[in-house]
Amino acid sequence: MRYTKYFIPTYKEDPSEAEVVSHKLMLRAGMIRKITTGVYTYLPLGLKCIRKVENIVRDEMNRSGAIELLMPAFQPAELWKESGRWDHYGKELLRFKDRYGRDACLGPTHEEVITAIVKNEIHSYKQLPVNFYQIQTKFRDEIRPRFGIMRCREFIMKDAYSFDADEEGANKSYEIMKETYHRIFKRCGFKFSMVEADTGTIGGSYSHEFMVLAETGEDQLVICERCGYSANLEKAEVTPKSLEAQDEPELPIREVETPNMKSIEEVSSFLNVSPKKLVKTLICLVDEKPVAALVRGDHELNEIKLRNLFGAEQVRLADEEIVQEITGAPIGFAGPVGLEIKIVADHSIKGIKNFVTGANKKDKHLINVNLGRDFQVDIFADIRFVTPQDKCPRCNGELIFKKGIEVGHIFKLGTKYSKAMNATFTDKDGKKKPFVMGCYGIGIGRCVAAAIEQGHDENGIVFPISIAPFEVIVLPVQMNEADVVKEAEKIYYKLSEAGIDVLIDDRDERAGVKFNDADLIGIPIRITVGKKALKEGKVELKLRSEKQTEMIPLESASELVVKKVKELYDSLK
Ligand code: ATP
Ligand code: MG
Repeated sequence: MRYTKYFIPTYKEDPSEAEVVSHKLMLRAGMIRKITTGVYTYLPLGLKCIRKVENIVRDEMNRSGAIELLMPAFQPAELWKESGRWDHYGKELLRFKDRYGRDACLGPTHEEVITAIVKNEIHSYKQLPVNFYQIQTKFRDEIRPRFGIMRCREFIMKDAYSFDADEEGANKSYEIMKETYHRIFKRCGFKFSMVEADTGTIGGSYSHEFMVLAETGEDQLVICERCGYSANLEKAEVTPKSLEAQDEPELPIREVETPNMKSIEEVSSFLNVSPKKLVKTLICLVDEKPVAALVRGDHELNEIKLRNLFGAEQVRLADEEIVQEITGAPIGFAGPVGLEIKIVADHSIKGIKNFVTGANKKDKHLINVNLGRDFQVDIFADIRFVTPQDKCPRCNGELIFKKGIEVGHIFKLGTKYSKAMNATFTDKDGKKKPFVMGCYGIGIGRCVAAAIEQGHDENGIVFPISIAPFEVIVLPVQMNEADVVKEAEKIYYKLSEAGIDVLIDDRDERAGVKFNDADLIGIPIRITVGKKALKEGKVELKLRSEKQTEMIPLESASELVVKKVKELYDSLK
């Protein structure tokens, strides 16, 4: 490709709208442009990176035995009503009515559509297992679209859906996808971790996320370096071994004044007790039913664990009015003593004596509260977030916390969708059985953004060769020197012939401008053809990822570059 015949509208200044480096650099490098909140155009350079990720994904999916198809973004509400998700998906689902007033949506995911297809087309165990995938545009009306194409409202996803005759087969399909994802992300050049994850609105029995490690990641990961346990913080289990039991005599319960003291910090400093001796009572609505959740003052309630405990669709904190109605006091003074709703307590509550709770009266708390003597708990469960003080739930080792960007997510769905939509096949024994399913997503655009979060410096993007928009850039320094231009063109021609994805910067621009743009757009290999070196029969080779340059002989330049390209790909195997 020739720079002058292409379209790379770069700019020097950092755009003010961008919070993270990948967003900034994608705008500056002329890869994307915003149309409206969370909706982007992929300019040619951005699209090229997207296509490179897609090609890796397609290649590995095909290799795994999955079969590509393409489903519509337009989805009728009936399908979503059949699965039960029309009422539960919430506002992220972009709904609309067609001209006849029929409800429809733009697909955020395709479990319903694929299940409907397989239900109609596949009838016998002999046709199983099968895994269908597509690379297609998804729509999600995200509450907080941000970070450019990392979290947007319209984005490209690879989604795959496996159908098996039984659990064993489904587990095998899941394992194949796990391996395939490892291969895909390795080829993308990522430093990544696979972690246990919550299944969220997709549902199903278990899932794993693939996380690119980066400080700007929206996900918090918990990792044990000793045994390899790793989980999303949302999911990470707390080991009961973390319990610190306090051995002290129970003191008489007493009500104390705590004027305007609502937060844990306020109460703990006012009463001069450690937050570890406070118990927070959070009035939650679990599918709109009130439940009191108790966690220690220095811990945080994990609403996802609470939701899963009840198998509920939704958990939220009750608002002021409901708290007042249930506890008789404003928010900040709730406590378990005398409370008449269901009480769920985190395991750590078992270990403390003589603790402080709200008194269910305005401006009052209770001290020396004791479990069993003063109140009863209906359910003990793990309902809090793990902390750096906790130990690994598997091996009791130290836990480390890291940030990650979720680029892929695999789910063991089981029969959730096939049962709901009555999708069955005839098994060996002649009986009709629901398909056992799995689903597997990869955010294609998010992969490009994540690569930039992991690969950049003060001058711009440092792409891994596999997803860089071009593999090589040839940069003639002086466009008014016939020899320089001629030799640069020759190298460009030879590299193109050799199948290298090469860009020649044939603009009549100052060398500085060209160097800056080459660095900004992150092309892994640069060949500079300059007047002085040419006189000695040399050109300069530089890797974007390294500081030093190397002078190589002009006559073997293209062969050396082809070799270098191969080396860079080999390093991603
Ligand atoms: P998140 O927790 O980040 O919202 P999710 O769990 O909703 O992700 P999935 O439904 O599993 O995501 O979608 C599969 C993949 O699609 C994700 O792993 C991610 O890479 C990508 N993805 C999801 N939402 C978006 C979005 N709004 N913009 C860009 N990519 C997305
Ligand atoms: Mg989401």
